Amino acid sequence: MGSAGAGPVLIAGGGIGGLAAALALAQKGIRSILLEKASALGEIGAGIQLGPNAFHAFDYLGVGQAARGMAVYIDQLRLMDALTAEEITHVDLRDAFRSRFGNPYAVVHRGDLHGVLLQACRDHGLIELRVSSEVLGYNQDGSSVTARLASGERVTGSLLIGADGLRSNIRKQVVADGPPRVSGHTTYRSVIPTQEMPEDLRWNAATLWAGPKCHIVHYPLSGWKVFNLVVTYHNDAPEPVAGKPVSDDEVMRGFEHVHARAQNIIRHGKNWRLWVLCDRDPLPRWVDGRVALLGDAAHPMLQYFAQGACMALEDAVCLSHTLSAYPNDHPSALDLYCSQRFPRTARVQLISRAIGEHIYHPSGDHAHIRNAIMSAKTSENYYDDLAWLYGGTGLGN
Ligand SMILES: Cc1cc2nc3c(=O)[nH]c(=O)nc-3n(C[C@H](O)[C@H](O)[C@H](O)COP(=O)(O)OP(=O)(O)OC[C@H]3O[C@@H](n4cnc5c(N)ncnc54)[C@H](O)[C@@H]3O)c2cc1C
Repeated sequence: MGSAGAGPVLIAGGGIGGLAAALALAQKGIRSILLEKASALGEIGAGIQLGPNAFHAFDYLGVGQAARGMAVYIDQLRLMDALTAEEITHVDLRDAFRSRFGNPYAVVHRGDLHGVLLQACRDHGLIELRVSSEVLGYNQDGSSVTARLASGERVTGSLLIGADGLRSNIRKQVVADGPPRVSGHTTYRSVIPTQEMPEDLRWNAATLWAGPKCHIVHYPLSGWKVFNLVVTYHNDAPEPVAGKPVSDDEVMRGFEHVHARAQNIIRHGKNWRLWVLCDRDPLPRWVDGRVALLGDAAHPMLQYFAQGACMALEDAVCLSHTLSAYPNDHPSALDLYCSQRFPRTARVQLISRAIGEHIYHPSGDHAHIRNAIMSAKTSENYYDDLAWLYGGTGLGN
């Protein structure tokens, strides 16, 4: 049996996953030191969709009220055919959805969400936040783990949680499985003032326009002050890229074949930035003794199910439960955390890919099949499909 080990839990990475982990541990009275590479804690990018499972986690983390206060509660997930500009189907997210799953579906600004988690961490006496602290790797023995920082400093704790994202240094040492898989899909993001969104498209919905090898997503954000635009196409991009500014013409290039109404949405975007999407195959084990991964470091996924951040939040809560269940044997707690989280996160990783292939990007007969299947379903049918994800908490308690 391993021991609890001495000292605080070290967390590498101050994204949504790392901050949530620090808060979840604090709920169990566990002290942590969060080590963030950047010189300031923050988030780039725009909106994020949150399923009811994220709100279950927020409540546990003690930020439920603050998170609810900044959310826009959309009425529908709406699927449009980008070639005909006709609706294929929608999922009603109002009362029936909320009462079935116990929480809403909402959209929030990433910066706002990160800010809520950060403030809660700053307010908590058990959490220490350190910036300009890139973790390069670790050494461990039977009772402690030491993080090696790029500055040369060493920080020792009882455990190390690698919440350091898609290109995790901690993962390199825990599993050494090489770089993530580059999908070849490029996503462009922009945020525009609501008055610049075509008036007939200012829907209270997360709307997806699905076209051959491309799609467009839009939804209102920040108290309806702005609209989030996310557009994606396959251009076989070979390298991972995150947040690079690009021209309007480059964004439009992937949408010459879609309906003028869909193209018109893109024309309203400005200050576009691009991301080349990456993921990994599910991995059953992401633990090495006193070290475990969390969030994108453990199970990076394509964004098509809008669940990456939701999974990171669930991971954080589950980890806190297993650490408190094994107060004297933290390595066993990490094993239990990983075995509880693997089936669910693996399923979401794989479904995210499948949704991209069969819902977001089909063409020809494949698109006709999608339209026929999806237009025949009611909202209740979709609730049944999603019950495994939204129906439980997934939090391991
Ligand atoms: C286009 C797009 C749209 C998305 N939409 C949604 C959505 O609608 N809903 C949803 O739930 N998810 C969505 N996601 C996924 C979601 O953004 C991620 O899953 C989530 O942000 C992962 O959080 P994380 O904390 O694990 O990693 P990250 O957010 O990547 O944070 C990692 C942190 O670690 C720091 N770091 C990196 N290396 C080190 C190191 N060696 N030492 C110390 N610090 C380090 C980084 O600076 C960063 O602060 C989307 C993703 C994309 C790309």
